[in-house]
Amino acid sequence: MILEGSNLGITLIYSDLHQYGLWYNLLSFVLVLLLQDTYFYFTHRYLHKPKLFKLFHRGHHRSVQPTPWTSFAFDPPEALLQALFLVVIVCIVPLHYLVFMMILLTMTIWSIVNHLGFELFQNPLKFNWFIGSKHHLIHHQKYNMHYGLYFTFWDRLLGTQDIDYDK
Ligand SMILES: [Zn+2]
Ligand SMILES: [Zn+2]
Repeated sequence: MILEGSNLGITLIYSDLHQYGLWYNLLSFVLVLLLQDTYFYFTHRYLHKPKLFKLFHRGHHRSVQPTPWTSFAFDPPEALLQALFLVVIVCIVPLHYLVFMMILLTMTIWSIVNHLGFELFQNPLKFNWFIGSKHHLIHHQKYNMHYGLYFTFWDRLLGTQDIDYDK
């Protein structure tokens, strides 16, 4: 649907890799992940308000011990809210269609990894700025912390990071 929109001139999706310079493809990829993480953090945190939680987000929290299937388990209104980000972003940020595909793929794989229930990579550097299953598992167990999707900086900045996480 989104790619069809580009034919109609509604979205800013383009097909020439050199249209804005090759570097722009990488830049736009990183930029959209940062924006999506920000959007996800704040909408997710908002969905944890008791009234909204019941309507929008309870489905995702049925599993205290998440599995990869949990990454696809969203109540329809929440799925719509997250899809809305993608619909809006392709209308305001020019994206090559392969970059757009990469964003969809990254989002899907990252979400599955976040719900594995075990840590896929052992992190020898103690570089904890990326969210993984260990980080997101705490969200499913404690509810009121770890709202991010890809990166931990919003949680760190706004005090919703578990103080024991980095120990
Ligand atoms: Zn949640
Ligand atoms: Zn989850």
